[in-house]
Amino acid sequence: MSYVNYLIINIFNSKVIYNMNSCNISLPDQMEIPVCTSCTRPILPGGLSVKLQCPNCNEKTIWRCPKCRKFTRTYTCSACSFEGP
Ligand SMILES: [Zn+2]
Ligand SMILES: [Zn+2]
Repeated sequence: MSYVNYLIINIFNSKVIYNMNSCNISLPDQMEIPVCTSCTRPILPGGLSVKLQCPNCNEKTIWRCPKCRKFTRTYTCSACSFEGP
């Protein structure tokens, strides 16, 4: 096997492993990922997302992704249907 072939196989293998890992991350029973209350996108760790308690009922946790913060999109609390930023 030539060195170039070896490299290509290695790159291919690491891509397959990466894809398998990202599949595992999206499984809900393995790890609960918070989603943005406004756009329902998953909140990635280490981002500029914010977590806050609903200012009206103080029961639900509101997550906001950086995009929704930037565009000041409204959120709706699932417990008391309070709307606001
Ligand atoms: Zn969002
Ligand atoms: Zn609420």
